[in-house]
This record gives sequence, structure tokens and C-alpha cells, in this order.
Amino acid sequence: MNNKNNLWLNDLQRKREKGPTLHKASYSEFNDSTKSVHAGQYNDPTTRALGTPIFQCSTFYLNEASYKAIDEGRGRDEMIYSRYGNPSQWSVQEKLSSLENAESSIVFSSGMAAISSTLLALLDKGSHVVSSRDIYGGTYNFLYEDLYRYGMSVTFTSPTNIEAIEAAIQENTKVLYFEALTNPLLKITPLKDLVALGKKHNLRVIIDNTFLTPYNVKPLELGVDLVVNSATKYLNGHSDLIGGTVSGSRKLIDSIWPQMLKNGGSMDPHACFLLERSLKTFALRMRTHNDNALQLAYFLEANENIKRVYYPGLLSHNQYELAQSQMKGKYSGMISFEVQGGNENAHKLLSYLKLPKEATSLGGVESLISLPYNTSQASLTKVQQKTIGINEGLIRLSVGIEDIEDLILDFEQAINNVFKKELVC
Ligand SMILES: *Cc1c(COP(=O)(O)O)cnc(C)c1O
Repeated sequence: MNNKNNLWLNDLQRKREKGPTLHKASYSEFNDSTKSVHAGQYNDPTTRALGTPIFQCSTFYLNEASYKAIDEGRGRDEMIYSRYGNPSQWSVQEKLSSLENAESSIVFSSGMAAISSTLLALLDKGSHVVSSRDIYGGTYNFLYEDLYRYGMSVTFTSPTNIEAIEAAIQENTKVLYFEALTNPLLKITPLKDLVALGKKHNLRVIIDNTFLTPYNVKPLELGVDLVVNSATKYLNGHSDLIGGTVSGSRKLIDSIWPQMLKNGGSMDPHACFLLERSLKTFALRMRTHNDNALQLAYFLEANENIKRVYYPGLLSHNQYELAQSQMKGKYSGMISFEVQGGNENAHKLLSYLKLPKEATSLGGVESLISLPYNTSQASLTKVQQKTIGINEGLIRLSVGIEDIEDLILDFEQAINNVFKKELVC
């Protein structure tokens, strides 16, 4: 209805624009590799330096525009102080927004800073979250140990069963929080169904997309409200920085920004530079991670000494159909597999491998390998580990961008060494 009251309300609606941004260049019509290279990059007009400089400063000269922005509550759109905003942050945020198809993004000092600030911004005292036990340990600890201290609560349920998720919704539920692809068993959260559920119950849907990245699925395009990433992993991809991101509508991101200011987890300008530089090869790297992982998954599944392989691109994955329909890029560089002979043989296998480095974390150009039972899921009891499917001999592999022939040969020699056959003369 277009009556007077409505006009008055419309007057109150501030027009929000994409960004904040250093320039108006939009790369929305381009594909991921083009966006990775060009979006957000700031070519300095004063020096004509090609590429975003590192704006290593804590503060900025105040001028009329910045005083006005402070006065009008638009501090996010002006350079005032580097925790609030810095050209190096804006640049990489714009590249991320372009890749996520988001109006706005914020970069944080870690994935956990992004996740905790985002949740605290969206929740009030008394709010309830529905999530899953199959989430990153740090996130689980935040939800389980800290929410109740603020008078909030959480229910953990299945990430794949929409009926179970709906059954966990309460009158005070505000947020559905899940990971698009879970660690370490690579369960796929059905995003379209989750979004429909969120709409039905008027809830915000937040997705941690660290394992898939915007190259493989863009949750915002499917109707998810906010997407968070540990930039430490694939986005940066070189195992040399800690960072986090959140992307979504300008309105929602503007509501998270004050929480970031209070919690203080802004990204340092030098880390911004490294992240933006790494993102230039993001699409290129993801293609190779995806291709290598699929081939290695085929190889492992065909090997008699490997009991079971978890990979969304294998027909044996119980959500193969969903992977086909939901993932644009196929199917991430993460593989988990169980070796015959339990954890003892799993440890032996790791010791014989020459290329994959034995380390926690993931998404680097180098293959990384670890055992979930004594790394990412170490805080769980044996019974809890069994319940979510962490069996004896389970290995988690982040497949790097090495030549696939070299990786397969390395796994072949290592498996042969573990399962040495008696030579029959
Ligand atoms: C690593 C990780 C995080 C935490 O990110 P940090 O950058 O280490 O703070 C969150 N979610 C997932 C899925 C992760 O793998």
C-alpha cells in the first residue's frame, strides 16, 4: 500500500551500496579466474604502481568527509583508523565479494574471529542456534562453551537430515549454522533445503564454506544469508597466514562490522596483501586441487589395502547425487580414507609418504595429511569419535597442486611399504 505511513517508513530506509569500495569497477559479469585476477585490485593513480600497495598505517588524516561520515554513522565508508577499515582490507574484501557474489565482505584476523563476531552480531540474549556436531572444533567450542555465558543456547543435530534440523528448531531459534562440506567425513549439507527451512521459520542461515570455497559452490547464490570462510585454508592457499572472511548483503555485513570493531579481530594490512596476492591464483589452484583429488580418490578406492574412501565425487559417496547438483566445481581437494589395519598402519603410511607433509590444516599448495583421531577430533572420547564415524585407520588428506602422477606414485610406494608382501621365489 502506498499510503502516507508507508512513505514515511520508506524515507527512513537508507540506500545501501555495495562495498565499501575504492573504485566503481565491477567484475560481476566475469568468471572466477578473471575475478580472481582483477576484482578489487587497486592501481595507485598517484604513483601508477600496478597492484594494491600495502597500506601499512594504523590511522588516516581526518578531513571533512571523514568527520561527516562519523557524524552520520557511516564510518565504514571512510578511512579513519585501520581496525575500522584500510585500503588493503577494502581491496581484498572487494575481490572476495566478487568471488562470492556478495554485496559486501569483511576480512578478519582468523576464521574464528569471523565466526565468533558474526554469531555474536546476529544473536541476542535468549537466542538459540541449531548446528551440528560435524563442525570445526573451534566453532563447536565457541557454541558449546561460550554461548551459554551470554544467555544463549545451541542444539547440535545432523548436518544432512533436514527433518532432524527442523525438529531442533525452537521458538527462540535465530540461526541455522552449518558447514557446506564437513570435516573429516565430507558430509554435504543440503543448502537449498536448509535455505527453504530458514525461510519457513524466519531464521538466518550461516554457512562455513571453508572446505568447498566459492569456486565449488557459492552459498549466497542459493539463498544463504551469510557465508564465512577460514581464509587460512584454500582462499590463501599457501599455508602462510591466518585469516577469516564473512560475506553477504551490505545490510547484514554492516551489522557485523560493529561487532568486529568491538572484538578487535580485523585483518592486518600485510596479511591483506598476502591474501589478495594469493587469491589471484585462486581459481587456478582450485581447479588443480579438484582434479588431483578426484584422480587420487579413484586410485585409493581401487586399492585393496584401503578399506573405504570418503570423497563426494565417488559413486560410493552416499550423497553423490547431491554433490552433482549442488557443487559447481567438482568436488574439493579433501579426501578421507580408512586404511586396513587401523591407526597403527595409518601412522606407518604417513611415515612412508614423501610428498604430503604430516600437518594439521588444509588447502595449501602442498599436500597435507593427518589422522583426525589425534588432531581435529582429538578432544572427543573414543565413543563420540565412533558415533560421528571416525573409525580406526581414518586418514584426512588435503590434496595439493603437485603433479598427480607424482602423488599417485608416492601413495603407491607408501601403501606397498606398509603392506609388504612376502616375496614368493
Ligand atoms: C580452520 C577452520 C576454521 C578456523 O579458521 P582459523 O583461520 O584457523 O581461525 C573454521 N572452520 C573450518 C571449517 C576450518 O577448517
